[in-house]
Amino acid sequence: MIPFIILLGAPGSGKGTQSQLLTDSLNIPSISTGDLLRNEIKLKSPIGLKLKSIVESGQLVPDKIIIDIYSKVVSEGNFDRGLISDGFPRTEAQAIALDALLNKFPGFLTVVIYFETDLEHLKDRLLGRRLCPDCGEIYHVGTNPPLEGGVCKVCGSKVIQRQDDTESVITNRFNIYQHEIKPVLAYYSNRLKILDGLRSKEAVFDDLKTTIKKTLNIMR
Ligand code: AMP
Repeated sequence: MIPFIILLGAPGSGKGTQSQLLTDSLNIPSISTGDLLRNEIKLKSPIGLKLKSIVESGQLVPDKIIIDIYSKVVSEGNFDRGLISDGFPRTEAQAIALDALLNKFPGFLTVVIYFETDLEHLKDRLLGRRLCPDCGEIYHVGTNPPLEGGVCKVCGSKVIQRQDDTESVITNRFNIYQHEIKPVLAYYSNRLKILDGLRSKEAVFDDLKTTIKKTLNIMR
């Protein structure tokens, strides 16, 4: 069985960080729909220009569009070692579409992880978050700062603050998240693994690895 690891959680709950750690330690590639969209925006591609205002204001991209983008990436990539999904699905319609897509790839076994957090705490994480636009490394100005002058430790590029990591857009993203996540959690209720996402990234990561291994062993 090939693991298809779905990371669910609020904006700032650690999906991106944990997905990076998993990719580095297990050598399993990840897809972040947010990164895919930000890249299209940066390239000023037709889809990027069309979706720029939606993404930067914290709204969700319409299901049909994001499902098409995501399905294309999964269908065209080489995921022999498995796949980590960061930021998809975000709605029940996307979760249903993902199961339909995975039916075409019978070797995959889904492991669905939910990082439980409290939104008040996450606001600080998001306001202090910085991102390397070139290699994707994630920083926090207080707890994990980049080098002097905002330079990325991995590739030396200048880190940036995401357009949607501002106070008003964060509030908007949290509202949408609270509305959409309930039906997604209900959809996955029989296979959902809930982890406390408010601990240090190392503690969450240990728990995550153990949970994934246990799930895969049970299902083999
Ligand atoms: P993220 O980097 O996961 O926080 O995503 C950033 C933004 O990209 C979101 O606020 C949405 O505008 C858009 N986005 C990412 N993933 C999805 C998705 N699965 N469905 C709809 N919009 C998405």
